[in-house]
Amino acid sequence: MFAKVIIDQDAKALDREFEYEIPDGLDVKEGMRVVVPFGNRSLQGFVVGISEECSFDKEKVKPILRTIEDFAVIKKEMLQLMFYMADKMHLKLASILRLFLPSEMRTDKIRELIVKTCVLAENFSMPSNRAKKQIEIVEYLKGCGSEKMSELSNRFGYASLSALIKNGTIVVEEHHQNRTPEFDTLEKVERKLTPLQQRAVDTISEDKTYLLHGVTGSGKTEVYMNLIEKQLAKGKTAIMLVPEISLTPQVLANFKTRFGEQVALIHSGLSAGERFDEWKRIFFGEAKVIVGARSAIFSPIENVGIIIIDEEHEQSYVSESNPRYDTHDIAEFRRKYNNCTLVLGSATPSIDSYAKAIDGEYQLVEMPVRVNGMEMPKIVVVDMLMEMRQGNNKIFSIPLYYELKNIIENKKQAMIFINRRGFSSFQRCRQCGYVAKCSDCDVSLVYHVYENRLKCHYCGKRFKALDVCPSCGSTDIKQGAVGTERVVEELKKLFPDVPIFRMDNDTTSRKNGHRAILNQFRNAKPGILVGTQMIAKGHDFEDVLLVGIVDADQSLYQSDYRSIERTFQLITQVAGRAGRSSQQGRVILQTYSPRHFVYRFATNYDYKGFFKKEANLRKVTNFPPYARILRVLFSHEDEKVVAQECKLCFGKIKAIKEQYPDDFVYLDVMKAPLNKIKNKFRYQILMRFKLEKADEIEKKVFETVDPKAKSSVFFEVNPNNLS
Ligand code: ADP
Ligand code: ZN
Ligand code: ZN
Repeated sequence: MFAKVIIDQDAKALDREFEYEIPDGLDVKEGMRVVVPFGNRSLQGFVVGISEECSFDKEKVKPILRTIEDFAVIKKEMLQLMFYMADKMHLKLASILRLFLPSEMRTDKIRELIVKTCVLAENFSMPSNRAKKQIEIVEYLKGCGSEKMSELSNRFGYASLSALIKNGTIVVEEHHQNRTPEFDTLEKVERKLTPLQQRAVDTISEDKTYLLHGVTGSGKTEVYMNLIEKQLAKGKTAIMLVPEISLTPQVLANFKTRFGEQVALIHSGLSAGERFDEWKRIFFGEAKVIVGARSAIFSPIENVGIIIIDEEHEQSYVSESNPRYDTHDIAEFRRKYNNCTLVLGSATPSIDSYAKAIDGEYQLVEMPVRVNGMEMPKIVVVDMLMEMRQGNNKIFSIPLYYELKNIIENKKQAMIFINRRGFSSFQRCRQCGYVAKCSDCDVSLVYHVYENRLKCHYCGKRFKALDVCPSCGSTDIKQGAVGTERVVEELKKLFPDVPIFRMDNDTTSRKNGHRAILNQFRNAKPGILVGTQMIAKGHDFEDVLLVGIVDADQSLYQSDYRSIERTFQLITQVAGRAGRSSQQGRVILQTYSPRHFVYRFATNYDYKGFFKKEANLRKVTNFPPYARILRVLFSHEDEKVVAQECKLCFGKIKAIKEQYPDDFVYLDVMKAPLNKIKNKFRYQILMRFKLEKADEIEKKVFETVDPKAKSSVFFEVNPNNLS
């Protein structure tokens, strides 16, 4: 028998199946990890197929040296998923397989946690009278039956203990112990579903994809938990995904409280040991409900009854570094494989998903009001240009200052939100609010500090940085955003006695850093929490009555065709943190573009109106979901090599364009906006084409890349980030 093996190396030249002979007596199955001879080395690999025949000279085929585990670590479904991803997303096989295993497993650095306990031997004899300590140990064990070896050693000393073990009086037993992640628990409460929740739970029942559009506070979590319960009762399992940033202690506690030991947690905050042990619990079927961030979609769980993607519009569901994939596609694959239900939940669905719901590809389920009947928070738009004209040059507008003061006097809480997405920034006229846009693409230009240039990330055009505003002639041009630290400083000056907390990447890098800050804030009344996107999601603090958005335009003027959509989503999500229990909340939204349509729809919580307007814009300008963007990115240390290989590929794509003259909206080759990263030069081919023949064109474009190219080549479909 012969095995097809994928070598576990991230190298393009090795990215195919190699054939090996299965030696007699070695039990090799599909999905097992093996060690094989390769050149003069031995390398690890994955068995992805077994056959009677070998496609080349049998005399020359080398034998597999050994298996690493005695079972298949890659299950059948995941093997199929691998082939699907390689084909559809054009990824390297080994890099896909790596997604399926905890990385610790491949490096062998991880050890199982073994606990040694001591018990008395069945017919032990008492130690002699002179060995006082030994007698104490035996008496102690007689009393309690068994005890950890480390504990006995601490209490009575290692010498006496080891003497007893040596002469057979005491027997040592070894137990494997799971390391489980920390979590808080909550009081278990029985909640009666509201009629809207009940209707959602009843409707979502078939093997289809549902889009659950429920406003913030409509009780989506409760719906998810009921849906999961229904599946567990049928003996099935569930995968519940939440964005990394909203993987709050509260969400975890909710699920642990409801489903107890059956829950496994997968997120980036786990230690290597915890991650490995949780993975094993999932693999061997002990865990039935998986709660985790993006990568949890690859959990080796079987018999899946439901997959839920909460906050489905979140960007963090798209992996933007290699291997690049969109969690939605993986979830859809697993839904079909398992014939199960997929639920995409959000208060602000992505334009992509809502368009699919309208087309009937997804089933739309709506929950348009909050559980407790509370009104949505009132959003007040403050024109920062007006503030400036009235002499206020500060970070906080006058209305925001007075609202904060009011909150503090009433011993309530406020959140101040600072939008910091990506590294790019834009230039803005401080007198009239003018922001430079690309003349061809109608997206904002990105200011590149080092070159002092404005660039369009969609067509590569470069413009001179602004020193005079073309609209009003002012020289008061600003660049860059205020950070969380500045805001905290300012607040401390204004309200010296009020506890102020900061939550961003810097303050939460420690393990459980999140949880510590949130727990402190919870008890601080009055208190103010300042933060980035991290505070926008999922939190449920009943005394937060005010949310301040320092500069809402930050996301609006990103060079990204989705920037308006993102702005709408952010405002709605952040606003959703206010006034969740007994009192209506208030949101102060500061902007330099108060008349932008996104603010009109957002302040009215008019998602449908917003969708209509935005979808129409995308249709007219040929942007996704009504067209497809494809970027082929080349990178290499040698600029000549990368430029030449990219050009060569561009020539072939131009030939494709000639076959489809009506389908291409745009095609060009250029340096990537960030031309050099980590000493590698980056060149790109950017194209946009219509949908009808998109799959066909995409496939042909994939085939234009020379597999022997020296550059690394990446394909990105509708990328979030074109830097
Ligand atoms: P969403 O995720 O839709 O924003 P949540 O799931 O966070 O909303 O629910 C909002 C609040 O309502 C939470 O505090 C939750 O505990 C509470 N809640 C949800 N369902 C019910 C119910 N049926 N009865 C009472 N309270 C509920
Ligand atoms: Zn101006
Ligand atoms: Zn452009």
